[in-house]
Amino acid sequence: MTKNTFKPLDVYKILPQSNCQKCLLPSCLAFAAAIVAGSKKFKDCPDLDHEAMTSFSAKYQSPGLKEVNQAEFLDKLQKKMAGIDLAAVAPLIGATVKGETITIHSLGKDFVLNRQGDMSSECHIIPWVQAPLLSYITHQSHADITGRWISFREIKGGIEWQGLFTSRCEEPLRQLADNNPDLLTDLVTLFAGKAVDWYEADIALILYPLPKIPMLICYQAPEDDLQSKLTIFFDACCSTNLHIKSIFTLCSGLVQMFAKIAEHHR
Ligand code: SF4
Repeated sequence: MTKNTFKPLDVYKILPQSNCQKCLLPSCLAFAAAIVAGSKKFKDCPDLDHEAMTSFSAKYQSPGLKEVNQAEFLDKLQKKMAGIDLAAVAPLIGATVKGETITIHSLGKDFVLNRQGDMSSECHIIPWVQAPLLSYITHQSHADITGRWISFREIKGGIEWQGLFTSRCEEPLRQLADNNPDLLTDLVTLFAGKAVDWYEADIALILYPLPKIPMLICYQAPEDDLQSKLTIFFDACCSTNLHIKSIFTLCSGLVQMFAKIAEHHR
């Protein structure tokens, strides 16, 4: 089992500290100790602020919370996959079915998933892509691309994840673009993207991490005393096609991959 890197006092700091006992423990401090011991989960405190919880997860994710949560999440998705009618779902999500497998085009590459949720690809496997792909296939609702672009915080549930999205996705990508002026335009070629000229920015490009999850990256280079600016927009259909957590996972995985590409290009 992975050992927690946080202590009861670290947990206590993000609790409401009302000692209301809704978690069936005598106090918030007892609850904090129970979290560290593993006998309670954060969801057992109904009044816990989601944003505080999200920041806490981000701070202590390595090697504690995130790995455990991610493994549990993947396991749940793989089980869900067994009950999906692949032939019915495929046309709704822009995928194709062959026998007991479903193929999804992601960033210009084909990813094949079987009934057990195992993934293979024509390129080397990118592990972080598996959970968002499974989440996309097993999602309960599907919508077509609208052509209307919205910000991350406008996606359902986006407000709670905005802080983490800015610090893990937009800000590191902005810095990457500042330090590697050709990176964003290279992404268009590398990942079958599309450069667009209708958005007022130095560089604007559309990528398709999943067929019905288009994202628009807009970058304004630094000028005189003005810092550069980078914003990622999403088609309005994303709210229907993928859970906000998976959209975040997808984007943070992408940015980490772009960072590795930038390293190789130096
Ligand atoms: S439910 Fe939350 S706020 Fe209430 S005592 Fe438990 S930890 Fe504290």
